[in-house]
Amino acid sequence: MSQPKANITAPTRNRLLELGYELGSMVDRYPDDDVSRLAIKEAIDAGLEGNAGVGCVILDPGRKVLVSDHNRMLAPRFRSDLHAEMSALNIYEDSRQGGGDLRGHTLVTSLEPCEMCTIRIINSGVTTTLYVASDVGKGGITGPNTLAPHWASLAEPLTFAAADCSEEISGIALEVFSATIGGVVAKMKARR
Ligand SMILES: [Zn+2]
Repeated sequence: MSQPKANITAPTRNRLLELGYELGSMVDRYPDDDVSRLAIKEAIDAGLEGNAGVGCVILDPGRKVLVSDHNRMLAPRFRSDLHAEMSALNIYEDSRQGGGDLRGHTLVTSLEPCEMCTIRIINSGVTTTLYVASDVGKGGITGPNTLAPHWASLAEPLTFAAADCSEEISGIALEVFSATIGGVVAKMKARR
């Protein structure tokens, strides 16, 4: 786990560490529990760094972890596009000849992708996207968004679904995000 070096409050840091211990003590029971916990570990690292608590892993068709990363929008430096999914896809595409090929691959994100990331995921062509926690009707998948026809047709063969994980794990994913988003929004507001 990253060293907590960023400007987050002590209660937030303590809560994230507690959630990390809780996560580490769980036994996998559902098919996606293992990869969901990996994504949440990344989310906790993001939060400890002062970023929004969202993590993302990319799995090959045999479920081998190819990339494991997290939100990096505020730290180590401001970079407005680096949501967890964006950063993970950048790492994947930048490290492979021709940007790689994500057919048959799975992207697991600890929180339902936002609108920006949903479109990025569609553009990437990754076959399956699983989210550990739903953004309760506000994300890019369950929210009220309508895709432009060209994106809708590109998304047609792709799958977006909730991860098949325990409710406890899903609850921790949402809690990690909730524990961090207030501080992130405050820092964003201070920039305008
Ligand atoms: Zn996003």
